[in-house]
Amino acid sequence: MPVALVTGGSRGIGSAIVTRLRTDGWAVLAPTRAELDLASTASIEAYLGALGAVDIFALINDAGINPITKFTDISIEEWQRVQQVNVTAPFRLMQHLAPHMTARGGGRIVNISSVYSFLGRAGRASYGASKGALNQLTRMAAVEFGPSNVLVNAVAPGIVMTDLTRQNNSAETLESIRLQVPTQRFAEPSDIADVVCYLASPGNRYITGQVIVVDGGLSLV
Ligand code: NAP
Repeated sequence: MPVALVTGGSRGIGSAIVTRLRTDGWAVLAPTRAELDLASTASIEAYLGALGAVDIFALINDAGINPITKFTDISIEEWQRVQQVNVTAPFRLMQHLAPHMTARGGGRIVNISSVYSFLGRAGRASYGASKGALNQLTRMAAVEFGPSNVLVNAVAPGIVMTDLTRQNNSAETLESIRLQVPTQRFAEPSDIADVVCYLASPGNRYITGQVIVVDGGLSLV
């Protein structure tokens, strides 16, 4: 039974990923924030230290934060916190786990990005910058780990109906965005989870270094 480590598994997209993996027969480690606080370097190091020799085939970096703040009002603390949770923590988990995957003949890493890694929207400067960096981190890691059969990809969702979306958009804004989406609906977390779980599986044998956009066509219009 392959083992996956999923961050952000308590809610939203991460929770759908955990459910789908378990349904597919995976053993899933889904640490809560109490066990692994991605905002804290000490917590990350303690968690990795405690992991020991667990044979993890797939790492899914799903956890993310998205405070909405006007560019000129972003504090350095907020900027650093967003980069820490959305890029630095995934980097550190990848850096630690990829060599273990290599030693066992291969593995899969999937990073959850966003369409705001390449589209513009007011108030999303720190978030968009973090997700753009995550895309590029994905490509660089794919190049370095490709020879070891560690395939690294990102999935960039459009608008998914989760707590994050409800907290960051009024009902009115959501309805006006929904009408712009070619498919005329927002994603359900399972729409994203299905793509992530394919990329994380041994069945994905040749896709690496890609940012797969799963947005119902939102970024086309
Ligand atoms: P969500 O419902 O807000 O859930 C966020 C998850 O991240 C929760 O499990 C949360 O844990 C965890 N998390 C946040 N900060 C953490 C920290 N410091 N340490 C450990 N865990 C932490 O989010 P979502 O909408 O499912 O989004 C999941 C991912 O998809 C994020 O990377 C987000 O940027 C991306 N995304 C979402 C959308 C969308 O429309 N929703 C679109 C594009 C991309 P707690 O339960 O402890 O808070």
